[in-house]
Amino acid sequence: MNIKGEGGVLVVSPHCDDAEFGCGGTIAKYTKNKVPVTVIIVAVGREADDGLSRINEFKASMGVLGVTSTGILFPGYDARLNEVPSWKLVGAIERAISEYNTEKLFIPLPSFHQDHKVVWDASLAAVRPNKVYPHLTDVLGYEYPLTVWGDGAQYQSGGLYYRIDDTMRLKMKALQQYKSQMSKDGMLSLRSVRALAARRGAEAFTKYAEFFHVLRKII
Ligand SMILES: [Zn+2]
Repeated sequence: MNIKGEGGVLVVSPHCDDAEFGCGGTIAKYTKNKVPVTVIIVAVGREADDGLSRINEFKASMGVLGVTSTGILFPGYDARLNEVPSWKLVGAIERAISEYNTEKLFIPLPSFHQDHKVVWDASLAAVRPNKVYPHLTDVLGYEYPLTVWGDGAQYQSGGLYYRIDDTMRLKMKALQQYKSQMSKDGMLSLRSVRALAARRGAEAFTKYAEFFHVLRKII
């Protein structure tokens, strides 16, 4: 945390489970150290009253990671966030950054998924350089397994590694709560998640790591 130590961590997650895929181990590191962490889901469900099972999975996963502060911005807009006016989306993310005294902001890299593209653009707009947030020092982009295809695969910037040897178990357990989302094989399987964390770990001379793009850091 910064010298004042006043801020918290905010993770913007397009859907339930994206935050865990990209930063589950890192989130657990922060909660273990009693740093306030908030995870906001941008969209869930296809109808306003839909998505309950995913929300329950999300709650269970947050319980595993020790996150008590969560929010859902646009219920009913899963896979159609492009129907939400940009100003509303940007405004909602701006309010969350302010409300939670955010010091470290984690935003998802864009991918081929239409919602992820929209959330990426809105998040960047929310932290435009002339927008002042008193605590915000770090803006970090997180990957998830499917950013290997599409816009996310081309993204280049400085790399930041969080070693998650001590919290890898919690990351895996959090993802196991998403029975409706995890597949047996392929990119969204536990095997793939472990392989990616091991690859990032090897790059960081440790067993498991999560990798972030440093979009902006102010000291
Ligand atoms: Zn997603």
